[in-house]
Amino acid sequence: APAPPAPDEVITAAGKHVIVIGGGDTGADCVAHAHREGAASVTQIELVGEPPRNRPDDRTPWPRWPVKLRTSYALEEGGERDFAISTTGLSGVDGEVREIHWVKNTGEPPFAPIPDTEEARPAELVLLAMGFLHPEQELLEAVGVNRDPRGNVKAGAYATSVEGIFAAGDARRGQSLIVWAINEGRQCARVVDRYLSHQTPRDPREELAVGSSLRAGSSEAGADPPLKATYAGGDGLSG
Ligand SMILES: Cc1cc2nc3c(=O)[nH]c(=O)nc-3n(C[C@H](O)[C@H](O)[C@H](O)COP(=O)(O)OP(=O)(O)OC[C@H]3O[C@@H](n4cnc5c(N)ncnc54)[C@H](O)[C@@H]3O)c2cc1C
Repeated sequence: APAPPAPDEVITAAGKHVIVIGGGDTGADCVAHAHREGAASVTQIELVGEPPRNRPDDRTPWPRWPVKLRTSYALEEGGERDFAISTTGLSGVDGEVREIHWVKNTGEPPFAPIPDTEEARPAELVLLAMGFLHPEQELLEAVGVNRDPRGNVKAGAYATSVEGIFAAGDARRGQSLIVWAINEGRQCARVVDRYLSHQTPRDPREELAVGSSLRAGSSEAGADPPLKATYAGGDGLSG
């Protein structure tokens, strides 16, 4: 087993002024974890302006997901948050961050800075929770698999463009949810099993349909088109 990291290599919030950049769910988990580790203070900042407290019916009428102010479980435990903040820099000593610099913005694209609102705050640990871009590209480039325009692995029915390499979950569909990762992992395993046992490729959802009327590709299967099953092509089911 690899040796545990040296104490000065461990990233911890203990005793530190923590800044979380990003006001979404990942940011909320960062806030909660910083509390657990005993941070001196936790501040969560968001680029976009503060949403209204009640559903704005003109902007998000029912049944659309209402854009309104929500307070995460994490902030109920403590910490501060602020909206309409553009980070302008980090400064520190000997490679260690000490302060974050920011300016208030208009709260809406293009987030123009508001003059004379520059501020610096103590920041000894800065956590970036600004959204998932795509899987790390280095490995994908090294193995030469095709990617979609967002930088995710192009692997329609889990087979990538390189025979024998398969992808599932966030790496294939982009930022998503645990239930999708579990579902894709299982379906991908079926595809890999057929590949390794030299069987012809098949839509992995057919296995799920045994004994039910929901055969993939049938009219009952709803809007899901049949997967184009192949072991090297990368097309088929889109995320
Ligand atoms: C902070 C946060 C909170 C979330 N909260 C929720 C939630 O509440 N509910 C929910 O449904 N979803 C949540 N999600 C999303 C959910 O975690 C993901 O959709 C899910 O974990 C994706 O599973 P996965 O197996 O595709 O990828 P991952 O869980 O990311 O697993 C990929 C694995 O591959 C490993 N890896 C990377 N590169 C290599 C390599 N070169 N060689 C070997 N291994 C490698 C990584 O270390 C990692 O263990 C959250 C995500 C984040 C980041």
